[in-house]
Amino acid sequence: MREIPLARPLLDEREEELVLEVLRSGRLSLGPTIDRFEELLAERIGAPYVAAVSSGTAGLHLLAHIAGLGPGDEAITSPISFASSANCFIFGGATPVFADVDPRTLNLDPAAVEAAVTPRTKALVAVDMFGYPCELDELRAICERHALVLIEDAAEALGAEYKGRPIGSHGPSGVFGFYPNKQLATGEGGVVFTHSEEEWRLVRSLRNQGRDYEGGGWFHHVRVGWNYRWTDVQAAIGIAQLEKLDRLLALRSEVAARYDALLDGSGIEPLCPDDVDHRRSWFVYVVKVPEGVDRDRVMERLRAEGIGTADYVPCVHLQPYMRETYGFREGTCPVAEAAAARTLALPFYPQLEQEDQQRVAGALRAAL
Ligand SMILES: *Cc1c(COP(=O)(O)O)cnc(C)c1O
Repeated sequence: MREIPLARPLLDEREEELVLEVLRSGRLSLGPTIDRFEELLAERIGAPYVAAVSSGTAGLHLLAHIAGLGPGDEAITSPISFASSANCFIFGGATPVFADVDPRTLNLDPAAVEAAVTPRTKALVAVDMFGYPCELDELRAICERHALVLIEDAAEALGAEYKGRPIGSHGPSGVFGFYPNKQLATGEGGVVFTHSEEEWRLVRSLRNQGRDYEGGGWFHHVRVGWNYRWTDVQAAIGIAQLEKLDRLLALRSEVAARYDALLDGSGIEPLCPDDVDHRRSWFVYVVKVPEGVDRDRVMERLRAEGIGTADYVPCVHLQPYMRETYGFREGTCPVAEAAAARTLALPFYPQLEQEDQQRVAGALRAAL
């Protein structure tokens, strides 16, 4: 039986052509291909400044570092996310606080965020989960009221739109990620987007061992930094992906719409639809199994049929290291925990064929 993978990037001759150009140029890092990618992406998302880094996590870490998050500080984030949304400030010694999510969108519930603010709260890492824009204006108002730094983890949301404008264009600083399952895939990589020239300069210095961009040589370090550099080889893949991003996003939407139709009436609950303020960029096709159904057994049945699936996503605060270090337990975020126990991801990528989707839908219906 042929395997249907969970995710798969769509790469073609254009990536090969641009990668070959970089290889032949000999400029593998700190070269012009990265600059070009940054300019093109900035234009695409409507952000004045973009700085490429080695991963989405690296970008979040630099933003948390610039926000000055350290021991004694609390930062609020979502339990329905990838671990990086919390790890980015744990690296510097800040304490994670998890606010519950809205059961419909699975993004942070602004009322829960407001309730989680304490005198020690210094930042909010808001996540555009599964490519669906978070309640940015309400969250921003909370941050302004309590003088918190707002960081947007948009790693899953390249191409999404909030209130008619792309994620990245609204003001808060944030990141996108380019791991192979993301909308734009380069292997590893990510960017920080910002509307502050000063922050952009800092990110460029911090990603490059604290070197000074204003002058000074290779062995001139003006601050402690990291090696969070990207490579020009990855940037070449990124430019080729960016050139066809509209097509990639349209194909993803079509695949999602086909699943919606195939699974209509099956009892599963799909992710929430768009509305006037929120336009999802399709990242994964996650479904919620009906109450009382054993989600893990459904996943076993799918795997037995050669169908890729995963438990997207377990709550971050219930991960072993979170329980051990901070003592989080079940009941911390009941809405998130209830949703996470019932959700799973189905195979999802731009070139996924209708026949394969029919096989997936058939197997899921049978498993239910
Ligand atoms: C993928 C992802 C990240 C991390 O990106 P990497 O490039 O893998 O480091 C962070 N947050 C969310 C929500 C993600 O999905």
